[in-house]
Amino acid sequence: MACPLCGGEVEKQMRDYAITYEHLEKIVELPGIYCINPDCGEGMVEESAWDQVSRIKAELKADYLGVMAPDHIREIRVNLKLSQRKAGLIFGGGPNAFQKYEAGKVTISQPMNNLLRLVAKYPELMMELRR
Ligand SMILES: [Zn+2]
Repeated sequence: MACPLCGGEVEKQMRDYAITYEHLEKIVELPGIYCINPDCGEGMVEESAWDQVSRIKAELKADYLGVMAPDHIREIRVNLKLSQRKAGLIFGGGPNAFQKYEAGKVTISQPMNNLLRLVAKYPELMMELRR
């Protein structure tokens, strides 16, 4: 396999990759097929790393909007001993909402963010919501 840009040799490597959202940036090392010609630098991130890229993008977006990142949402839900389905029914958003939040497919709204913050801090509020 040759580089599609310069025809040089390509190699499987780990390289730094900048993931950005608005002005936020995070550098991560990702596996990919890269051109070893230093003047070229062409490369393609491996398909297996795409999940990681979209997860980090979701984290940056949450950070930018000032809401919880997917991992934090999952942590709160697990601490409350709720399934994703149950959490969506109790907090609103529907049975698939938390699956989407935790996968980083949907960023939580500010009201949902605030509700989760409150319930995480005062778990006894769950009694009210369950009614
Ligand atoms: Zn090249």
